[in-house]
Amino acid sequence: MLLDVKWAVKWLTLCAEAMAENRAWLIELDRPIGDSDHGENMDRGFQAVLEKLAESPPETPGAALKLTAMTLMSKVGGAAGPLYGTAFLRAATALGDALEVDPAKLAAALVAARDGIVARGKAESGDKTMVDAWTPAVEAAQAAAADGNGNVLAVLVAAAEAAEAGAVATDPLVARKGRASYLGERSAGHRDPGAASSALILRAAVGAAA
Ligand code: ADP
Ligand code: MG
Ligand code: MG
Repeated sequence: MLLDVKWAVKWLTLCAEAMAENRAWLIELDRPIGDSDHGENMDRGFQAVLEKLAESPPETPGAALKLTAMTLMSKVGGAAGPLYGTAFLRAATALGDALEVDPAKLAAALVAARDGIVARGKAESGDKTMVDAWTPAVEAAQAAAADGNGNVLAVLVAAAEAAEAGAVATDPLVARKGRASYLGERSAGHRDPGAASSALILRAAVGAAA
């Protein structure tokens, strides 16, 4: 099995569902260490992505991700909008105009997304940001893709599981980037909202391929 535009559209649809379902939770996560808007930002952004997908249906996975990037940049705002916008744009560029995505190309697109987030936000691993979900995810994805039996579903599952573990592992960290860093030591003991939403996005990618 390879990933095609139908998978991409389903992925983005499941992202929108996940953001709507988890809107209150993401707001709750952003309350103690931020400004309580992450759930609202992500829900608004992905609802807008759904509207754009319906208006101008993409013909390739890359086109779907590019449309997503543009929409998230203009609708999400805050820190997360430009970061996710850059991630989806870099992933779209990595896929180019391919109609189908194999494990190696999938892993390359995930690496490009993570690299885009790092280029934009300058966070390092352990700074208690979405990078702490994305870096373990891309490492797991690369390992799964390199495995001879690697198939796209295995790559996506590896990425989602690692992102979920990475998000949980932000709980004890002290934030060194973004709004949460204003709290210093008091940011410890809370999950990073952007790491949590990143794990939801990567889990939705599994749902779309399963
Ligand atoms: P804002 O903080 O502007 O209200 P959001 O609440 O939507 O934006 O998003 C906050 C999330 O953005 C954080 O939980 C964190 O994961 C991510 N973030 C913030 N700054 C950075 C950064 N410099 N690099 C990577 N991720 C960041
Ligand atoms: Mg916020
Ligand atoms: Mg905000």
